Amino acid sequence: MPKKRKKKRIRLKEGFKRFMVYFIAITLIAIYAITEGIKVHRIMEYHKTYEYKITEIGYPIEEAKLLCSKLDNKYLDSILAEGKYNEIYYKVLTEKYYLEKNYEKYLEYKIENPKIDYPKVIALVNTHANQEWYQDSKEADINQGYLVLVNKFHYLKEDYERKDLEPFSLNYAYGAYGDNKAAKIVVESFDRMQSDVKEKFKVQIMINSSYRTFKNQVETHKYYGDAFAARPGFSEHQTGLGIDISSLKHPGGKEFGESEEGKWIIENCWRYGFIIRYPLGKEDITGYNNEPWHFRYVGEQIAKKIYEENITFDEYYAYYIEK
Ligand SMILES: [Zn+2]
Repeated sequence: MPKKRKKKRIRLKEGFKRFMVYFIAITLIAIYAITEGIKVHRIMEYHKTYEYKITEIGYPIEEAKLLCSKLDNKYLDSILAEGKYNEIYYKVLTEKYYLEKNYEKYLEYKIENPKIDYPKVIALVNTHANQEWYQDSKEADINQGYLVLVNKFHYLKEDYERKDLEPFSLNYAYGAYGDNKAAKIVVESFDRMQSDVKEKFKVQIMINSSYRTFKNQVETHKYYGDAFAARPGFSEHQTGLGIDISSLKHPGGKEFGESEEGKWIIENCWRYGFIIRYPLGKEDITGYNNEPWHFRYVGEQIAKKIYEENITFDEYYAYYIEK
């Protein structure tokens, strides 16, 4: 092979190598510049988000993320306008029984009552118990069947009467009160409960009061007044699902609540579909003093849930039914 040709080929090879080196270097620089550009752009975009702005005024990132995922822009704007960290928003949003429709009311009530803890604020607002008793009351939804809610904000009309009333056995009746009646399923469930209690504690459980008509309640309310009786229409006894009980050994409501048979029923009534309707420590939600004698039928499944979650029927209804 002639020498000249060989030289030419070597020169060509070197030229190609040099070209490749430049090409790769320029490509790498370009890629770097583009990715950096994208990064800067992303950062600039992120700085425009509520999430970033909220962390900038002192909120931890996980709180900012939650606020942004749950709240409308107008609420995020007001948080930003406040300009500094405030636990109230995150605390309210992470409460178990939080309802979106009540967000503003929770804030308002908590700010007015800073000493009331968050779970209580949520419970009071959900059940309307942050208002005056009987204020803005409305007709009870009787289509809910065994889950109808009658309390100081939900009433039954004067002419509401249950259709499936049945008498209780006279075994549970004190002489003059032999006309005790309730919804069929209440009578049946009470039968089972009292028979289990009788076997366990050798004591007879008695019915002190059960179904009461609107008219009965007019008399009861006239006699006892607002402090000790529901206004006519607002009594759970008109539903035919509420009963007042005690035992032959402990006929008084309070002493019954402290007796071994009373305590057992309070802890186990859910097995028969009953709940204790006006429990201790929930007076501000139910509007009634603790009544260890007043039981309400809601069915076994719901009674179990209410028992396990340690809530009142008012709270259950607000969160799971009314929403
Ligand atoms: Zn009662």
